[in-house]
Amino acid sequence: MQNEFNYMQSGMWAERNPLICPCKGTGWTLSDLDTWHECPVHKHGRPHPEVEMLEGDDDEVEVRRLEMYRRLYVDARNAARKAGFTYNFKDACTGLLHDQEFLGRYGIGDDAEITPAMWVAAAEEVAENAHVDRQAEEADYPF
Ligand SMILES: [Zn+2]
Repeated sequence: MQNEFNYMQSGMWAERNPLICPCKGTGWTLSDLDTWHECPVHKHGRPHPEVEMLEGDDDEVEVRRLEMYRRLYVDARNAARKAGFTYNFKDACTGLLHDQEFLGRYGIGDDAEITPAMWVAAAEEVAENAHVDRQAEEADYPF
């Protein structure tokens, strides 16, 4: 019980990709212990989910949520560049966002509106693939 709580408090469960992260990009997740925990990756000043938001707070939180997603997008682009990705990053993300397999993996319908969280998920995948490609290249696998 205490271990579970400590683990949740540690934030080790967080994933950069908001579509995979237990917080789903909202910044908060509810544990099996029924306790709320703030996500170290996606926190953006959204108040504790059980705290009622004041009028007008919504807009400010939305602005900060967008900033958070933009920061993650840029981080992923930088990581891809560092791994040697030299193509157009935005085009690569766009390609994924229209890829049936990508959408299917996240259970997103192909007519769904593209959200900032989806952009970040695509950016994370492009960066991850660039990293894997780089490793394969460096290892110079003969098979
Ligand atoms: Zn998260």
